[in-house]
Amino acid sequence: MNNEREVEAVVTGAGQAGLSSAYHLRRTGFEPDRDFVVLDHSPAPGGAWQFRWPSLTYGKVHGMHSLPGMELTDADPARPSAEVIGAYFDSYERMFDLRVRRPVDVRAVREGAAGRLLVETSDGTWATRALINASGTWDRPFWPRYPGQETFRGRQLHTARYAGPEEFAGQRVVVVGGGASGTQLLLEIAPYAAATTWVTRRPPVFREGPFDEGAGRAAVALVEERVHQGLPPRSVVSVTGLPLNDAIRQGLRDGVLDRQPMFDRITPDGVEWLGSPGLGGGRHVEADVILWATGFRAALDHLAPLRLREPGGGIRVEGTRVVADPRIHLVGYGPSASTIGANRAGRAAVRDIRRLLAAEPVAA
Ligand SMILES: Cc1cc2nc3c(=O)[nH]c(=O)nc-3n(C[C@H](O)[C@H](O)[C@H](O)COP(=O)(O)OP(=O)(O)OC[C@H]3O[C@@H](n4cnc5c(N)ncnc54)[C@H](O)[C@@H]3O)c2cc1C
Repeated sequence: MNNEREVEAVVTGAGQAGLSSAYHLRRTGFEPDRDFVVLDHSPAPGGAWQFRWPSLTYGKVHGMHSLPGMELTDADPARPSAEVIGAYFDSYERMFDLRVRRPVDVRAVREGAAGRLLVETSDGTWATRALINASGTWDRPFWPRYPGQETFRGRQLHTARYAGPEEFAGQRVVVVGGGASGTQLLLEIAPYAAATTWVTRRPPVFREGPFDEGAGRAAVALVEERVHQGLPPRSVVSVTGLPLNDAIRQGLRDGVLDRQPMFDRITPDGVEWLGSPGLGGGRHVEADVILWATGFRAALDHLAPLRLREPGGGIRVEGTRVVADPRIHLVGYGPSASTIGANRAGRAAVRDIRRLLAAEPVAA
C-alpha cells in the first residue's frame, strides 16, 4: 500500500524561517494541507525560542524582527522571550491559517520517484516537489572536546540546558565561549557563584557604537561567501563582534569579563593550562561546573541521505538554494540565521520554488 501523501512543498521547522516561508507560500496561492505542509517536532509554537532560558527576557534580545505581515507590538520587556515569542508565533499561525503539524519529526529526506523527494517523518511520508528546510540549530548544540573531559567530577552543561543563574549559587564556574550567550550568562551567574573563570579560544572583539545596517550587511556578506564556497557557516559573533553595552562595560570594570585563553585540559577537579608560568601556563583552576557556551551547528542530519555536503564540510548554497539540488532551500542557514535574515530567506525561497514548479511539471 502506498501511504505517501503528495504536496508541492514541505517546510521543515516552524521557527522564524519556516513561518516566513509558509506565509509567502500562502500569500502566493499555495493552500496548506493541499499544496504544502509545515512540520515541526517541538511541542508548541515558538521555534527554538520556546526552549530559551527564562532570564532571557524580551528586553534582552537585540534586534528581534517581526514576522512578515503581522507586527509584534507592546511586548513586555520583562517577560521571558520564550513566552512572548511563543504567544506571538501562536497568533501568527492562526492569523494566516498555516496549520503547522506538531509534533512531527522529520527523520530523513530521500530521493523518490518522478523527481519527488520523500520526506519520512514520525507521522508518515510526504512526497514533495520542493523542500524548504528551516530546522535551525537548537537541536545540535556544539560541544568541543578537550583532553580529560570525561574525568571531570563536577557538572558540565551546554547553554541549551541553562535554566537560570540560581542553580550556580556558591559554585565555582568556568564559562567557555566568547559569544553573546557566554558573556550574558557569565554576567548573570557571577553574582551567585563563589568564583567564575571565563575562557575563550580567541580574544573577544568588542564593538563600539550601534550595529547599523551597513555593518549588518557586511557581516552577512562574509557568512554568505563561506556557504557559497561549501564551507560550514561561522558563528555570528566571529563576524559581528560583541556589542559594548552597559552590562558588558560594567563586567569589564568589575573584572567579571576577565578573559583567559582556552585551557589545555580538564582534570577531575577543574581545568589546567600547560606550559611555562611566564607564558601564562602551569596553572590550575578548581571548578564545580563547566558551562559550554560554545554555540550550535545547523541541524541537518535528516538531509544526510541526499549527500549534499561538499568536501569543505558545508552545503553549498546560492541565495537559499542548494547548489547540488535546486528542489531544496535552506532558510535560516548561514547568512539568513537571524530573524531578519530568516524573513528575507523565506520570501526568496518561495519565489525560487514557484519558478521551479512552474517550469517543471511533475511526470504522471
Ligand atoms: C540565545 C539566542 C538569542 C538570539 N537572539 C537573537 C536576536 O536577538 N535577534 C535575532 O535576529 N536573532 C537572534 N538569535 C538567532 C535567532 O534565534 C535565529 O536566527 C532565528 O530565530 C532562528 O529561526 P529559525 O526558524 O531558523 O530556527 P528555530 O527557531 O530554531 O526553528 C527551527 C524549528 O525547526 C524544528 N525542527 C528542527 N529539526 C526538525 C526536524 N528534524 N523535524 C521537525 N522539526 C524540526 C524545531 O523544532 C524548531 O521549531 C538568537 C539565537 C540564540 C541561540
